[in-house]
Amino acid sequence: MINEIENNGVIGAGGAGFPTHVKLNSRPDTVIMNAAECEPLLHKDMELILNYSDEILSGFKSVMEITGAREGIIGIKEKHHHEIEILNSKVSGNIRVMPIEDVYPAGDEVTLIYMTTKRIVPPGSIPISVGCVVQNVETLFNIGVNKPVVEKFISVAGAVENPATIKVPVGITFAEVLSQFKITESNYVVRSGGLMMGTLENDLSQVVSKRTGALIVLPSNHYCVTMYNRFLTEHDTDRIAKAGCDQCSYCTEFCPRYLLGQPVRPETAMRNRIFTREDQPMIFAGNFSCCECNLCTMYSCPEGLDPKGATVIEKRLARQQNLKWNGEAISAHPMYEYRKVPTEKLKQRLDVLKFKDKGPLTNFSFNPGTVSVPLDQHLGSPAKPVVSVGQTVKKYDLIGKAEGNVSSNVHASINGVVKNISKSEITLVRN
Ligand code: SF4
Ligand code: SF4
Repeated sequence: MINEIENNGVIGAGGAGFPTHVKLNSRPDTVIMNAAECEPLLHKDMELILNYSDEILSGFKSVMEITGAREGIIGIKEKHHHEIEILNSKVSGNIRVMPIEDVYPAGDEVTLIYMTTKRIVPPGSIPISVGCVVQNVETLFNIGVNKPVVEKFISVAGAVENPATIKVPVGITFAEVLSQFKITESNYVVRSGGLMMGTLENDLSQVVSKRTGALIVLPSNHYCVTMYNRFLTEHDTDRIAKAGCDQCSYCTEFCPRYLLGQPVRPETAMRNRIFTREDQPMIFAGNFSCCECNLCTMYSCPEGLDPKGATVIEKRLARQQNLKWNGEAISAHPMYEYRKVPTEKLKQRLDVLKFKDKGPLTNFSFNPGTVSVPLDQHLGSPAKPVVSVGQTVKKYDLIGKAEGNVSSNVHASINGVVKNISKSEITLVRN
């Protein structure tokens, strides 16, 4: 079974992109389905549960079988009554549905593991260190259907007339996807992935990969866009930290990882930017445990600064200098229960309450004439092309082979002819 997952090029579809067959080479006692879908406006995982619960549960059972886990837990927001009902009607024995609070970032692995098992992943460790493996809903769907992964489900949301969940071929451009939607703003920008953890896309010729979760359209004068644009570079983050941080520590006090006893202290990252010298950077290695949820920048900081950006700088510097955190075992902060951030409150702060946060699975027909299939859409080494220019390929054919221990196979997402092969992608033209 694990060979099929490897051959099919299944990777973490929640955005992480870690090759699934590598992750499953472990012996957890518990497998957790990450159905938390905590990014505001995203809805594709709930649509998948509504439409494909059998496939998802089949994938979930396969993962439990492969790893030998004794227990399976489905972590899903308590507000999704209908989806919970569907799942509850189909699970039994050692699999249970666990409704969780509607807070951000419930989908962060460390947070989800705590919310569903009360176990705390130690700083610098991964879920298997506490006997858990976490798998995203769409990853489990891909395992369940047991075919090469050549299509991606994405949420299209924000300033569009009819938000929807759609299935598109890997390698299609963002522009082609959005051409099927009526955008309600004349001046807009697009955020891929999510409002909190995604990327601002200035170039809509970028393509959908197996990791793309959403395309969110925002008016170009929207609050979120103003914030994203203020902190485009490390230089911006550094300059504004030096000028504006009053060290109030709200960023740390609301940090979900800090509240779970992790050594993350974004206010320290800001202070280090204030005092650091070009030739002598100050670094707090505990910040390596930041999950980049962006809560400190987009929600907590009353000054509108970028503590997340400062923490990311610290992570880079710590990595460069091979600094590691060697702290003690940890426990949750006594204030953890009182400082969780409700998603509705976050949406209010982000000024997105006006956008619909549901988008039904809609059957658009996407038949792009050309697709550019990325060879590096997973974590680890890029896949190595196994086709040549001019070769005819069919949908699902292997076109890039995993290279090394952490890598993943890549397949053709349309019937076509190989037009071009570069280091990063293979371009196919439909025939
Ligand atoms: S970054 Fe913002 S929240 Fe954090 S200490 Fe500075 S002013 Fe306070
Ligand atoms: S982005 Fe900010 S709030 Fe989120 S984990 Fe990192 S430091 Fe904490």
